[in-house]
Amino acid sequence: MHNIQPFSYHSHTTFSDGKNTLEEMVVQAKKLGFTELGVSDHLIVHKNTKQSPSYKIWVEEKRENTFFSDFKSILPFYQNHCEHIRKLAKKENFKLYVGFEVDYFTYNGWEDELKDFLAQLDYDYLISGNHMFFDEKCETYIDIGMLGNLKSDRVLMNEYMRHHFSVMKKAIESGLFCFLAHMDYVRKVGDEYCGPKMFMQEKKSVLDALQKNNVGIEISTKGLRKIGDLYPCAEIINEIAKRKINVVVSDDAHSINELGADFDVAEKAISDAGIKCRLKF
Ligand SMILES: [Zn+2]
Ligand SMILES: [Zn+2]
Repeated sequence: MHNIQPFSYHSHTTFSDGKNTLEEMVVQAKKLGFTELGVSDHLIVHKNTKQSPSYKIWVEEKRENTFFSDFKSILPFYQNHCEHIRKLAKKENFKLYVGFEVDYFTYNGWEDELKDFLAQLDYDYLISGNHMFFDEKCETYIDIGMLGNLKSDRVLMNEYMRHHFSVMKKAIESGLFCFLAHMDYVRKVGDEYCGPKMFMQEKKSVLDALQKNNVGIEISTKGLRKIGDLYPCAEIINEIAKRKINVVVSDDAHSINELGADFDVAEKAISDAGIKCRLKF
């Protein structure tokens, strides 16, 4: 038996695309015997979000409230959310951290706008979670579903994937983030397109950046629910061990049932790789 990490720093509520309210997530965390919980709803802001071909789908799925086009207009909404978490922590006498999972975009001005926004927000930490695919200019973007539709254009798909890893590296170097989420989430497209042994050079340079900038990485059990394997795969976990990067187990819970899910599997993978360096606030 391994010691099981008794907390999660990666969870979502109905504030973004989670299925349960903050209150319900806290009740469940207590039930599980968690010592603390990090609430990390999405922060996805891109100036041309409404022009993204993926946006139409999100509107149809009534998920458009997770994707925004301007920092200023959402500030009160995010400020209220932070306050809500602080108040509930007091009321429940339970340690809650205010986090956000941020999609890192690279067009001119984005990072400055993000920093202005963050300066007005009472938060504790940021997770780098990149879900979108774009090119150098970053004028628009597509989601992973649309990336999967590019299977007939392998050259373009590879370009998007390569760029995806280089954006991850940039995000890590920005100094904004505490840890990196679901590093090989692109495997969702299919292992024949971005399997464990592919894009190794790109993946290693992401890991080198984590090591150099002292940023952590999550071992996420969400992958088990999506592709039947942890994010990241064992090959990457071994590279993490070599570099002594701090790891944290995540469930990326979008509902109470997913909180703490399969943490034993993640702990076994960490122990098998001989990882001792853990991230803890
Ligand atoms: Zn994510
Ligand atoms: Zn997430």
